[in-house]
Amino acid sequence: NRRIVLASRPVGEPTAANFRLETAPIPVPSAGQVLLRTLYLSLDPYMRGRMSDAKSYAEPVAIGAVMVGATVCRVVSSQHPDFAEGELVLAQSGWQDYALSDGAGLFRLGQLDQPSLALGVLGMPGFTGYTGLMDIGQPKAGETVVVAAASGAVGSVVGQVAKLQGCRVVGIAGGAEKCRYVVEVLGFDACIDHHAADMPAQLAAACPTGIDVYFENVGGAVFDAVLPLLNTKARIPLCGLISQYNATELPDGKDRLSLLMTQILKLRIRMQGFIIFNDYGPRYPEFFQTMSGLLAESKIKFREDRVQGLEAAPAAFIGLLKGKNFGKLVVQLAD
Ligand code: NDP
Repeated sequence: NRRIVLASRPVGEPTAANFRLETAPIPVPSAGQVLLRTLYLSLDPYMRGRMSDAKSYAEPVAIGAVMVGATVCRVVSSQHPDFAEGELVLAQSGWQDYALSDGAGLFRLGQLDQPSLALGVLGMPGFTGYTGLMDIGQPKAGETVVVAAASGAVGSVVGQVAKLQGCRVVGIAGGAEKCRYVVEVLGFDACIDHHAADMPAQLAAACPTGIDVYFENVGGAVFDAVLPLLNTKARIPLCGLISQYNATELPDGKDRLSLLMTQILKLRIRMQGFIIFNDYGPRYPEFFQTMSGLLAESKIKFREDRVQGLEAAPAAFIGLLKGKNFGKLVVQLAD
């Protein structure tokens, strides 16, 4: 059983040295357990938080412990009355080939044409984009919705669902190729490259009636560009701040906290953070049904960035924090 453990805690950007590949015997299930074979491992930005021991909504990964992560697994042997050999399940078994489970937290996937979608558009990221937008963003037809990391797992769902609600949707993404995909394939009205020097002016031009919903995935310079464009009663689902995850200190420059507070007050902006499974966990099965229907009708498009082999996971994860992925990042471990 090959597994990747946390070797040390990163300072700033993670490096290959923070991870270690280990080999151990394949575990044997006892009564009430199943043995899971990982087919696909999800790589997600929140894992950067688990590598750190700063206080957060979840416990950090211990040094020497297997890296956490959602997986799509096949039940290869079962001593559990509710799970049969050969079944596909969504699990939280982490960066390893095999794992034991007592069944708690396993979600049966049935017959999915593309099982890895349970880690992306049908999984935690899709659930996050859909629920954060609808519950906190409350988009209305005709409003302008802006989302960054727009070609990614969460952002792609946010924008497409907002289009289905009749909104004008503006994405922000890194580079011309991602922006072209966001407009031409995902159907956003516009997409701005956040590497462009005049990104704030381009964003303002793309939002002639201001911004009603800003779905926050990145923070930093993108939020600075969004803030002056927000309309009265704008809603901001605060989902992620990926531009800050490797930061070791607050950014230099003038303190703009009072500017932010003034805007929130005068415009009566509602900004709410959320952690998807902590806040909305029980709604996942309902989301799964809804999104399965939208996919069956081709109303939602998705893109997967698939890398091969467990040993490729650390470099792919390091790249995710720098925008090297194009679509939902998954690692394939087996067929
Ligand atoms: P993505 O598939 O979108 O991949 C991450 C993307 O972030 C990169 O491809 C890159 O896209 C963008 N990015 C990285 N650095 C920067 C930067 N400095 N400035 C602007 N963009 C940057 O990831 P996910 O869809 O999985 O996650 C998106 C966000 O949602 C993350 O912040 C994540 O933490 C958050 N999240 C929160 C959840 C919650 O429960 N609150 C649950 C799931 C995700 P590009 O090249 O386009 O810049």
